[in-house]
Amino acid sequence: MSEKRSLRVAIIGAGMSGLCMAAKLQDAGIETFTIFEKADEVGGTWRDNTYPGLSCDVPSRFYAYSFRPNPAWSRLMSPGPEIHSYFRQVATERGIRPHIRFGSDVTSARYRDGQWWVGTADGEEAFDVLITATGFLRVPRYPDIPGLDSFAGPMFHSSRWDHSVTLPDKRIGLIGTGSTGVQITAELGGKVNGLKIFQRTPQWVFPTPNLRYSRFTKTALQRWATLNKLGYWFWQTYIEHGFGRATVEQCWQRRAMAAMCRWNLRLSVRDPELRRRLTPDYQAMCKRLILAGHYYQALQKPGVHLVSQAIDHVEPRGVITADGTLHELDLLVLATGFDARAYVRPMEIVGEHGLKLDEAWEDGPHAYRSIAVPGFPNLFMLMGPHSPIGNQSLVIVAEDQADYAMWWINQIRDGSVVAAAPTEAATKDYNESMKAAMPQTVWVTGCKSWYLGKDGLPELFPWTPRRHRELLATPQTDDFVIRTA
Ligand code: NAP
Repeated sequence: MSEKRSLRVAIIGAGMSGLCMAAKLQDAGIETFTIFEKADEVGGTWRDNTYPGLSCDVPSRFYAYSFRPNPAWSRLMSPGPEIHSYFRQVATERGIRPHIRFGSDVTSARYRDGQWWVGTADGEEAFDVLITATGFLRVPRYPDIPGLDSFAGPMFHSSRWDHSVTLPDKRIGLIGTGSTGVQITAELGGKVNGLKIFQRTPQWVFPTPNLRYSRFTKTALQRWATLNKLGYWFWQTYIEHGFGRATVEQCWQRRAMAAMCRWNLRLSVRDPELRRRLTPDYQAMCKRLILAGHYYQALQKPGVHLVSQAIDHVEPRGVITADGTLHELDLLVLATGFDARAYVRPMEIVGEHGLKLDEAWEDGPHAYRSIAVPGFPNLFMLMGPHSPIGNQSLVIVAEDQADYAMWWINQIRDGSVVAAAPTEAATKDYNESMKAAMPQTVWVTGCKSWYLGKDGLPELFPWTPRRHRELLATPQTDDFVIRTA
């Protein structure tokens, strides 16, 4: 048997997917990896987002690594700090921390002489394989509202929450009614001096009560590991056969979920005028569906006002809407989303023959099966372009992508492959077949959302989660340019 090469692997990012990759490398007996993390703690989005009401709207049993169940989840959809604590725990108990270089911001990665040279403030370092695990909703998007900077009170983006600002005494203005804005509203409604929610587009809300797990359930899950597997399987089946199909096929699930959203609005909001203002004019799930238990209830609490007039501008005292009303505020929160196309950027990635990733992605980010890019050998992306990122658990997506990268890493380690990158033709075919499938999806049924790319097409995976697993199960070596020793 041939001797295995000792491989040096660089992972950029110690969030959910970076930790997942690290665990997979360890399972394969590879300890020669380094994780570059710009912050001083693991957790990615669960470290950066700390806004009040933060939780995951995917049931926690399924929003966890399949190899590390957590019997202690407190709720069906656990609060953000608990999820962050879970990832911190995994990093510690798996012995991943010694591999992490905290405070190490990667500014460039260049493929030179068959290796990836990863650049940080400390200089460049060579690796055989590069994994980007930088997440995709990371760079805050600030709204382009005239006068925004003139606001006299504190103002911050939802993902940069300033906890030194007290809330109960404040008249708060919240711009944005996406998943984040809804969670903030549900938490703060009725608990502060005033809450004005500036809604540009109404959202469909799928009723999702967030039940608490009893002590009995937690004890049982602790005792019988199979129950955790059963819970994982149950929620996976529910989500993949429900949301997973409803978004990409014209099926009964799509109709049933849309009906649930309509009933939820009708039963929860009795005031016809408020209901009218909350009723979207597009199909449910066209934008990322909001899953929430008591958003509508929070909206109807004393001191909470939904403002559906467009924002005209901001002045030091508050927000002026198109009808000329001044909404006086003490604090302005921008729950206005993220630049979903930042992916691995602003870091500069340069592949073979000096090809920059920015050039390769001039017409928008695209990849071979979300994972690899022609001209960038031995580079594997987790949560790359067109990953299945709708209302699903991204953890299982990261696991499947990491397993796929592991297959190539094992070939490189065995010596049967020195370098591999997908062909232009295979990448083009793959992207064209995705484009052809887009008309079946709910995302093109007439709404504006962050899912849509430059060309107006969704930058999402247009098939079922099962198809995603099938596509990644067996790497097609014919689709790759492979260099051997
Ligand atoms: P988002 O879905 O992009 O929503 C941004 C909100 O800001 C929208 O309501 C948007 O209105 C509004 N907005 C943006 N610019 C505006 C402007 N200039 N004037 C007025 N309103 C403006 O962002 P998000 O809520 O942060 O969520 C982003 C994604 O993060 C979600 O889709 C989801 O994938 C993820 N997330 C997940 C969870 C979870 O529990 N799993 C929780 C939070 C976030 P329009 O609709 O009119 O554009």
